[in-house]
Amino acid sequence: MSLRDTAGAVLEIDLDALAENYRIISRQAGPAQVAGVIKADGYGLGAKLVAETLLAQGCRRFFVALLAEAASLRPALPDNADIFILNGLQPGAEQECADIGAIPVLNSLSQLDRWATMASRLGRHLPAALQVDTGMSRLGFPASEIATLIAQPDRLKGIRLLLIMSHLASADDPDAGINVQQLGTFQTLTQHFPDVPRSLDNSAGSFLPRAHFDLVRAGIALYGGNPGRGSNPMRPVVSLEARITQLRTVPAGTGVGYELSHHCQEPSHIATIPVGYADGWPRCLGNRGSAFIRDMRVPIIGRVSMDSMTLDVTHVPDSLLYPGAPVELIGPHQSIDAVAADAGTIAYEILTQLGGRYFRMVKPAQPTAIKRSMTA
Ligand SMILES: *Cc1c(COP(=O)(O)O)cnc(C)c1O
Repeated sequence: MSLRDTAGAVLEIDLDALAENYRIISRQAGPAQVAGVIKADGYGLGAKLVAETLLAQGCRRFFVALLAEAASLRPALPDNADIFILNGLQPGAEQECADIGAIPVLNSLSQLDRWATMASRLGRHLPAALQVDTGMSRLGFPASEIATLIAQPDRLKGIRLLLIMSHLASADDPDAGINVQQLGTFQTLTQHFPDVPRSLDNSAGSFLPRAHFDLVRAGIALYGGNPGRGSNPMRPVVSLEARITQLRTVPAGTGVGYELSHHCQEPSHIATIPVGYADGWPRCLGNRGSAFIRDMRVPIIGRVSMDSMTLDVTHVPDSLLYPGAPVELIGPHQSIDAVAADAGTIAYEILTQLGGRYFRMVKPAQPTAIKRSMTA
């Protein structure tokens, strides 16, 4: 028996689907280029794996959140690939950031000043992106600091500005008024930097019916999450299949799991599977979420434990119930967005919590001819 067959649960990562999602977004956002957002270890799938797949599609720009993420990825990427650090430049991080050749997204005047000082100390230009806050109040230059910078352009001395960017608060809701406001503010502020390429859109923004500036920063849609609210145009990248570890038949009235939070209404069959909250399966899905056996929905009954959970399989044919039998947790019947909706969260959280105990199977990408150069 292979390791795969004896694993409690198998997480499959379909790199072919990831590559196709990159092409779908490229077609959607074109002529804008598409950067890969691979922070949080590529949304839990493995940043290196994701980066290599996107490189083969022509992607040359990558975004992470932290300097440490950039440092670990830098050796894996070719010299002509850019790694931007979204969270910016922490005080004291300037030397390392310059040493590894990462590109900070400067989020304030003080970050800019420290980066310019480092450039002058090194006697060479240093690359940077500049983020402006257009209404989300999270990261980026406030309008007042942009005004200061426009009045004192010398503060950019020694800095090679590769990108000016902002981030949308409600891109997944095309009707949100804030989208139009942020777009207007972005256009106004970036007028002062006419030669610098611009980036406003994340995955959801790339699907808004308007132009997309020079670069979009795609994350969740690459990984198969729905970038909007209608039917999902992306191919699923992740599937998760557990194996039944134990089956039991209980009389009506039997309690199940911690605190006996479920009592069986009828004589029942219960299947235990070896996936719990330590694997990133949300504990709140106890007595609420589902799994699938073939195309039959089997409800999660009782609490989700650390290492296991229990399913009501009373109405599943016996032939499908045996130790080792497969149970779909994420797959054709239950998307990451559906799991997230049941858990009252978003697909981003489901993906980034996927645990380290699954047997990970990687389905390689098929080689494809790149029709359009996306290396600019
Ligand atoms: C995470 C992030 C993205 C990617 O967003 P998705 O919704 O996953 O496409 C883009 N830009 C910024 C600034 C981010 O923080």
